[in-house]
This record gives sequence, C-alpha cells and structure tokens, in this order.
Amino acid sequence: MTSAAPHSELPTRPARHRAYADVPDAQWSDWRWQMRSRVTRLQPLAALIDLTEDERRGIEGRRDAFGFAITPYYLSLIGPPGCPVRRQAIPHVDELRTTPWDLVDPLAEDEHAVTPILTHRYPDRALLYVTHNCPVYCRHCTRQRKVGDVDSAPARDMFEASYDYLARTPAVRDVLISGGDPLSLSDARLAEICGRLRAIPSIEVVRLCTRNPVTLPQRITPALVDALRPFHPVFVHTHFNHPAECTPEAGEALVRLADAGFNVGNQMVLLRGINDDAATVETLNRWLVRHRCRPYYMLQCDPVGGTAHLRTPVAAGVDILDAMRGRVSGLAIPQLVVDLPGGGGKVTLTPQRLVRREGAKRVYRDVQGREYTYVDEPL
Ligand SMILES: *Cc1c(COP(=O)(O)O)cnc(C)c1O
Ligand code: SF4
Repeated sequence: MTSAAPHSELPTRPARHRAYADVPDAQWSDWRWQMRSRVTRLQPLAALIDLTEDERRGIEGRRDAFGFAITPYYLSLIGPPGCPVRRQAIPHVDELRTTPWDLVDPLAEDEHAVTPILTHRYPDRALLYVTHNCPVYCRHCTRQRKVGDVDSAPARDMFEASYDYLARTPAVRDVLISGGDPLSLSDARLAEICGRLRAIPSIEVVRLCTRNPVTLPQRITPALVDALRPFHPVFVHTHFNHPAECTPEAGEALVRLADAGFNVGNQMVLLRGINDDAATVETLNRWLVRHRCRPYYMLQCDPVGGTAHLRTPVAAGVDILDAMRGRVSGLAIPQLVVDLPGGGGKVTLTPQRLVRREGAKRVYRDVQGREYTYVDEPL
C-alpha cells in the first residue's frame, strides 16, 4: 500500500520566473496584463526557457495547425523537460506523429451542432461555444480545430440563433458555457450571456467550463464572482491535471468561487507520464477537495490528432480507480469517462468487482482482492 502523499509535493509559494521578478505585484495580479503578456512565439519562449530540440521542432511544425500561448503565471510553473506543466503547454515534435485513429473532431461536435456555436447531443443538455480564446493552449485540447483561430470567433447572430433554439427546445435544462475558455470574455459579456440563458424559463442550470483557475487564477476576481452570482445555480467545471498546478493563487481562486456560491467541479484528463498514476491523482484530488472543488470526471484523452503521445491505455484509468477506492475518501474519487469517438457520448468505466455468480449469490472482490458474497434475494 502506498503511503499518503505528502503535501510537500505541492508548490508552497507563489512562483515567478526570474524574468518577471521586477513586475509590480499589482500588474502580476492583473489578468489583463497576464493575457497581454502571454508568450506565443518561439524566440521569446526560447529566451525564457531552455528549449529542447524536440520542443523547437514541435513549435515550428505546429505553428500553423495549433500554435501555443502561455501566461507568465503558468510559464512560471514550468520546470525542466518532462515537467507536467511544460508538457501540457509547450509543443513537442511528438505532436507531428499520427495514428490511423486520430480524428479532427473526435466527438462529432460539429455534426451535432444545431447552430454554429451550439451542440445538442444529450436530451437535456447543450453546449454553447462562446469564444475560441484561451490563456494557455493545452496540448491535449480536444477542440484544437477551433481554439486560437481568431477569424472564426462566434458572431452575434450565432448567439441569437442559439438563444432562439434553446427557447423553443424546453427539453434542454442544463447549458454548458464552453469554448475556448469563456473567461476570456469580459465580466459584462459573461453576465449578458448568463442573463440571456437564465431568461429562458426551461433552463434550470448553467455551467461555466473554464481552465482559468489553473492557467490564469488572477481572472477569478471579486468583480467576476459578483457579476455572475445573480445567475445561480451556476456550476463551474475546471480542469486541473497535476499537483504542480496547485498553487496558493489557484487555491484562492477556487475558494473565492465556492464562497460566492458556485459549485465547483474538476474534470481532469488522463495524460501519459503526467498524471496516469494513483498517487498523483490522489495528491491532486485531495488538494482540490481541501479547496472545495469536487473531482467530477477523470477523462480518457480523446483521439484528436497530435495527442497520440499523451494518451494512456484505457486500463490505466480503471487501475487508478481500483487503487483509490476504499483507501481514499470517496469525495476525492472521480468518475472515469470515455467520450465515445464519433459522437456516442460519455460512458463511465469502473473496476470489475464481480468475480462470479452462484445462483442468487454474487461473489465480489474487495479492494484487497478478498472475496465476499452478497445474496441477491430480497423477500
Ligand atoms: C460532456 C458534454 C455534456 C455534459 O455532460 P455531463 O455528463 O452531464 O457532464 C453536454 N454536452 C456535450 C456535447 C458534452 O460533450
Ligand atoms: S483551456 Fe480548454 S479549450 Fe482551451 S486549449 Fe485548454 S483544453 Fe482547449
């Protein structure tokens, strides 16, 4: 049995790359400054980080298809090659490798689009894409076909068409505001979108899907939570993948959201060599729970082109759940989800516990592999 993961694996003080040492605190904490100061080109990045040849070739090879962007904050978390933050943010030559199973739109989101920015796959939920901008372009992004492409930014008439569709489709009770990262929009614009959705009586819940608490926690300001609080219930889905992202600033952002009544959940993506082991997931999830963010999904990486080197075997996720159950608080255990390529939607996977059936008897194995019988014979 592995021992409890120590807290010392977590970053303990606000990190800053030495190049930013003289930036005044007020500027460093200003999300607009962080957005303006993002590193998006090879030369400036090479001046800050000692890039490997594989990274340089990845940056050049992916420049047109899926460029990169990194906030000074997230860049400051980057360590030597192999660092989990680095591998999520800096292109690598392995992104040029493809498999025959790679897809451009693995979840067939465009096929299930009812307006250019609204995907309606499940009866009661719909997904609205409000921007293609993100503070950091995650190398494993499923929507890399869309994000970063400023020319394809959603237009006003697409929003109107989407509100119209939702108003005449009362089966939709739950709308996910996604992108890109919705928090790239201004507070006023976000409040307007939430207001338009909440004005549709059949919509019960709004969800905001954002990686800003991870890549730009400065964005979670008192003004932002005040602007969106009137539209509760608003659920926030964020996307922490590794304890190296669990900084004091990130923790503050989560607690600020929770204090303002947002119900915060985390959707991590399993990434090979980054977070595909139980100890890493446990450390991450215990930190999230301490900051009142509930691990919601642990997602199998979608087969989008350029991510083959980051994908894990499906069994890896099942093994992680198997190792956690019984040993770790259930609050820290997410559901393992595979989003079926081609638009089949999400399915959950769980460790196989049933060993055999003997008449009404069901023999299950516990977490240590011992067998126990449940007699499945109610009166
Ligand atoms: C994931 C997803 C949802 C939300 O699914 P939940 O399982 O309810 O979190 C809704 N619509 C689409 C298109 C999705 O991909
Ligand atoms: S924040 Fe989300 S949408 Fe943006 S690049 Fe990362 S995974 Fe993709």
